[in-house]
Amino acid sequence: MARRCPFTTTAASYLLGILDPHEHAEFGRHARMCTPCRREIDELAPVVRLLKAIKSDHAAANGQRG
Ligand SMILES: [Zn+2]
Repeated sequence: MARRCPFTTTAASYLLGILDPHEHAEFGRHARMCTPCRREIDELAPVVRLLKAIKSDHAAANGQRG
């Protein structure tokens, strides 16, 4: 079993792009060497893509500006 990593919770923020640019780069580097974090990213990526698609659908439906 893979060990847990305290940074896996950061994966969602990383994928959503709400981290500082510095944190984003740092987590990206970390995830490359960290199996639990990479797995978390792999699992969350489709969900985040879906959420973003739903969000942009809503925005389009509501007449998005800019
Ligand atoms: Zn990690």
